[in-house]
Amino acid sequence: MKKFKLVTLLGIRPDYIRMFKLIKLLDQSDTIEHILVHSGQHYDPELFGIFMEEFGIRKPDIDLGIGLAVKERGLTGHAYQNSLLTERTFEMLEKVKPDAVMYLGDTNTVLSSVVVSRSGYPVIHLEAGGRSYDWRMPEEKNRVVIDHLSDALYSYLPRYKDLLTQEGIEDFRVTVIGNIIVDAVNQYGKSTDASKILDILGVSEKKFMLVTLHREETISSKEILENKLSDIVRFAEENKYPVVFPVMPRTGAAIEKFGLGHIVDKDVFIKSKPLGFFDFLRLEKDAQIVISDSGTVQEEPLITGTRCVIARRSTERPETIWAGATILEGFEGRGTLYPKIVESSKMGTDWDRSILNPEGGSPSERTYQDLVKKVETGYFKNSRSFDFLKDKESVRKAYNK
Ligand code: UDP
Repeated sequence: MKKFKLVTLLGIRPDYIRMFKLIKLLDQSDTIEHILVHSGQHYDPELFGIFMEEFGIRKPDIDLGIGLAVKERGLTGHAYQNSLLTERTFEMLEKVKPDAVMYLGDTNTVLSSVVVSRSGYPVIHLEAGGRSYDWRMPEEKNRVVIDHLSDALYSYLPRYKDLLTQEGIEDFRVTVIGNIIVDAVNQYGKSTDASKILDILGVSEKKFMLVTLHREETISSKEILENKLSDIVRFAEENKYPVVFPVMPRTGAAIEKFGLGHIVDKDVFIKSKPLGFFDFLRLEKDAQIVISDSGTVQEEPLITGTRCVIARRSTERPETIWAGATILEGFEGRGTLYPKIVESSKMGTDWDRSILNPEGGSPSERTYQDLVKKVETGYFKNSRSFDFLKDKESVRKAYNK
């Protein structure tokens, strides 16, 4: 029997971290011919190559190269990136003619699902149903677009499935799998223990803070970025904690553009380039407090048992807050992060570490098995056929039946 041709189209650092195991399962599949496509959104070695090496992921079959291309052309706006992504995805589809295209998360890369769906190919979305309801976030728009275009949606927890069905997405499309970040953290615990990063940076266990900041809403405003950095310095200086700060290229550029170098040049900061996963996870495990506006860095400290402050006004994944593992900054203003760091430093760490994957087992394996089942039962032949959909509740309602 001809194998089902599945394209996985990914673009940035956490995509590969979350997907490493599923990529390997798909590569070895008897049912699925797997084609790995990199959009090129992240292309720096420390944001892409290092993770392929650490996780032993083979080279993508196709690199759409959009990040470097827009840089070389000197075009900085997201619309240029998006139009090039659309063009190159279209060309890839013409060449590969896949049976479906799979995405993860809420990056700009997932916006190419519009041209995929428009060209008649089924779309599969992992990390479906995340909603912050904060329209300042570019990712919120990306989430809504891809979820509503997707033929098959994989959600981390039942709550995300509920949000999707409330939006009118049919129940049969959504499968709950648990949070796949658990696979990366569980499988690579040992490599993390071997990391020498604490010695390299000269910090000791539970005696430092770990900070990452890179969201567009943080780094596009001088005021917001300055407020957060100033509050971090205040807490660090009062408590004599060094601050390990792996700086993303765009964050570094924003600090320079806004003239905030005088803050991050203070003695408390230990700045570095973005780190590999093993070193970063080791730091997450051994930090006294993690402070981050990242999506994934809200989740990993829950698993490693480290306190975390989400340096944002909103989040699309509040379950770590409900578990008592993280605190949300919330209202963003002058001095609003500092009290949350103080509050977090006083928290216990005996929260339930299993809440991201309450069923146990491997979310990547569950996803793989469900995908194979869908392929074997011809799910994608029906998933957007009108004959199939006309009996579904939402369509019946639309026709008043
Ligand atoms: N990470 C890393 N090195 C770093 C900072 C983060 O390996 O210097 C990892 C981190 O462990 C997590 C992921 O990168 O798995 C988070 O990526 P990011 O914050 O860029 O993206 P988001 O999750 O916000 O989409």
